[in-house]
Amino acid sequence: MAQQETEQSVNEEFIDDVTDAEERERAHRERGTSRPITVYGNPVLHRECQDVTAFDDELARLIDDMFASQRTAEGVGLAANQIGVDLKVFVYDCQDDEGVRHVGHVCNPVLDDLPADQRVLDDSNEGCLSVPTAYAELARPDYAVVRGQDMHGKPIVVRGTGYFARCLQHETDHLYGRLYIDRLSKRDRKDALRQMAEGTPRYPVVPND
Ligand SMILES: [Zn+2]
Repeated sequence: MAQQETEQSVNEEFIDDVTDAEERERAHRERGTSRPITVYGNPVLHRECQDVTAFDDELARLIDDMFASQRTAEGVGLAANQIGVDLKVFVYDCQDDEGVRHVGHVCNPVLDDLPADQRVLDDSNEGCLSVPTAYAELARPDYAVVRGQDMHGKPIVVRGTGYFARCLQHETDHLYGRLYIDRLSKRDRKDALRQMAEGTPRYPVVPND
């Protein structure tokens, strides 16, 4: 009789970013200071950020400031270069497709490649604090897995569905210098930039030179 085949089940440990979401978000933003948001055209948004290598108090303060800034601007995700800091870290406070609130941060994020047959595209509206007042439909996978590190350097894996999946992809893109409008057709991109030019942001922004 052949030896029983042992199935190596990959039991992935996703981070719990749901428990105490409200309290954790409040603690971050109350320690932090809100900073103005950089907008399209600012060079810090259009190039890849530096890897986080120092998991120290300064990084913890940056994450607090990012939560404070995200709240002021009423965002559901924020990348460090959106407050002018050239480091690969983003924060989020976002609901998934079941209305569950996720709060957390990721340093040095890398998105898993999804097999094409597992990819369900969702073409919801998307907006960005760095392209104020503009919105456009953009097809993205409705499921995302991001690998990175927490503020202490510990490896973490974050999984998102629905709008939260979109958020994880959008914020990771930011840290590689890519805005969602860079994924639009030429015409839709132009239209988004026109919306931005015609609108007035409801939160403080860093003026471009
Ligand atoms: Zn954005």
